[in-house]
Parts: sequence; C-alpha cells; structure tokens
Amino acid sequence: MAVLKPQDEHYTTAQDICTHLGDEYAQFMGAIVPPIFQNSLFVKPTPKNGVPDSGFVYSRVSNPTMDIAERKIAALEGAEAAAVFSSGMGAISAAIMHFVKKDCHIVAPHTIYGPTRTFITKYLAEKFGVTHTFVHGVDPEEFRKAIRPETTLIYLESPSSLTLYMQDIEEVAKIAKEHGIGTVIDNTYATPLHQNPYKHGVDLICHTASKYMGGHSDIIAGVVAGSKENIEQIAANERELMGACMDPHQAWLLIRGLRTMPVRVKAHGESGMKVAKWLEQHPCVKQVFYPGLDSHPQKELVDKYLKGKTNGLLAFTFDGTAAQATEFVYSLKMFQFGVSWGGFESLCVMPTVGMSEEEAASLDIPTNLIRLHVGLEDVDTLIADLEQAFEASKKITE
Ligand SMILES: *Cc1c(COP(=O)(O)O)cnc(C)c1O
Repeated sequence: MAVLKPQDEHYTTAQDICTHLGDEYAQFMGAIVPPIFQNSLFVKPTPKNGVPDSGFVYSRVSNPTMDIAERKIAALEGAEAAAVFSSGMGAISAAIMHFVKKDCHIVAPHTIYGPTRTFITKYLAEKFGVTHTFVHGVDPEEFRKAIRPETTLIYLESPSSLTLYMQDIEEVAKIAKEHGIGTVIDNTYATPLHQNPYKHGVDLICHTASKYMGGHSDIIAGVVAGSKENIEQIAANERELMGACMDPHQAWLLIRGLRTMPVRVKAHGESGMKVAKWLEQHPCVKQVFYPGLDSHPQKELVDKYLKGKTNGLLAFTFDGTAAQATEFVYSLKMFQFGVSWGGFESLCVMPTVGMSEEEAASLDIPTNLIRLHVGLEDVDTLIADLEQAFEASKKITE
C-alpha cells in the first residue's frame, strides 16, 4: 500500500495527477517513464553491504512500481492511501472482508456486479454465515430500514454497470456512520475522474482497473482507496495473507493507462453521447440507459454526483422479440460480442442470453437489454454498424 507523499500535493488536477504524479526523475536516472521494478525481493541493509534502507522488503507487500500506481489513484480519489490488487475482484473481496465477521449482515442494492453478488450471497453465506438484504436503493431510507443489529457493511455500486442505476451515496454513508457500519463502493463506472465517493463519506472506494484505468484491454487489475488506517489494515491482512497482490509489470501498464485516462474517457464520452442520442430516437429502441441523457430516471442523482456524465458504456432495451434482439447482436461487425468494457474497442453483450426468464427477473434485468461499450473507433462507422444490425434483425419474423 502507499500513502500520499508530500511531493504528490504538487499535482492538484486529475489531468496532472494522471500525467505526472510519481515521475521522480532524480530518483530514476532521468528516465521519462519510471522503470518496472520486476523483482520479488529487496536486499536488506547490513552494516557492510552499503545498501540504503528503501523501506521495500518483498513485492507481495510493496514495490516501487506498485507504489506509483497507488499514489496516483489515492490522489485521484482524494483519499489518503490506496492498495493495488491483481484484479478488481481481488480488491472488492478484500474491501468486503475488511468489514465482515462471522454471522454478520450486509446491505446492498440489488444491481451490484454479478461476481460481487455471488461472493456475498454464496461464498460468505455458506462459509461464514453472513446474511444479506438487497434493497432497490432509490430512497436512502431503504438502507436504514434494512439495518439489523448485526449489520457491519453497506455495499454500494453507483452507477451500476448494466442499467446505470445510482444511489444517494452521501446520504447512505451518513446513515451507515450513525450506526457505526462500514461502507464500500464499486466506483468503476464513474472512474475517479467523475465521482469521488471518499469525499462523500464512503470508507473504501474500489475499482477494477481492468476497465478505463488500464484502458487497453491488456491487464486485469484492481485497487482500493481510503484512509491510511483502513488501507494499512487491508494491505497487511487481506492482501498480504490472501496474496492477491499486483505484479510490477501489471502496475507499470496500469500507470501507462492512467496517463491517458482523461483524454480517453472524454473521447469515449463524446462518442457514447452521440450513440445514446441516436439510439434514443430509433424505432427499434424502447429505452436507453445512460447518465448523459436527460431521460436517466435518476437525473437528480446524476446531477448531484457525476462531475462528468458520459463515457462509452450504455445499455438499451430492444423493441422486438428476443430472437430479433439476438440477431441484432450477432449481426454487429464493429462491436465485438464479449464481456468487459473500458478498453479502446467497441463491445456488445446481451446479459440475458442463456438465462431463464425467472433468473433475469430476479436480477431485475429488463427484457431484451443490450449493453454497448462505445470504443475509440470513428463514431459514424459505429452508428452505421448499429443501423445495419437493426435492419438485419427485422428479417427475423418468427
Ligand atoms: C469488471 C468489473 C469488476 C471486476 O473486475 P476484474 O478486474 O475483472 O476482477 C467489478 N466491478 C465492475 C463494475 C466491473 O465492471
């Protein structure tokens, strides 16, 4: 884990933090890019070996390349410290474990990321007797009502990554504090550029860095940011003992991704907005889910929390049969059929393919929901691709 250093205060805007925080030329022989410290251990100083005490011991615990990534993200979130992990789930499960104990109770909105949901409802439930209540979460009072004497954690994800559904995070954090309950949020959709929940009172901010932070679809990575005290404990317990630490090369790729994150997210957002508006007026589209549109059902929360309302991730409901929706998805040529998002490439996924209607309903996934990630390709090419796929879907008549 790394705590912000005094010299990091020099960088006050997200762009400057992304571009330069951690570039310590004097320390790295003038290299314009800090090196990858691709080593497992650090020689300890002895009275005779002349090795300076760098504070680094072993790369599962800390490493100078990881350190730079951690300070960049802590600074972006306005937090005191951060710890990087080998994946987003490594970060999320560590943050959750920090606040749970045997037989405790967790409250969360029902729209959280699938594997996080499974971690809470199956893994923690079956192994440690952890119980949970899922709330719709539009009204913060729903969280208050769900609290039990044994509740130790309120887990949030806002906006969620399918229907871009939000919570009033400041109000929920207040309720949690009144009850001495910990709070964790998955802030991946917003990125630290558009929302900083630590400043709204949330204890631990999780991201998968496999999406916009990495940005090139070439790493799986994660991070937790928060107070020095919480992050120190997570690094010493969940990370050091369970071992989901980041690899130095992965950390270096993450730093490279962060350098261009502000320009990439802006470009994704401009194209995403064009696609969202185009879809909204299209006869084959029932509803578009996107914070950039005035039609977002929680516009007040969008205005209250999101400094930037657009990126490349949006979803819509297809107005037609399931067979037509599936034909649309398979007919796309520029949008590859695959999970994930946040990379340079356009992607498309239909989460209910292979799911029973009951399962889709239990997860509150609207019928014929299609999620698009609008990549960095020419937006007119992407719109033409969507149009030809809509035309192809009309040929399915059964
Ligand atoms: C992808 C994703 C994760 C998981 O991240 P990994 O790096 O794949 O472990 C968690 N939350 C959200 C919202 C995601 O989109």
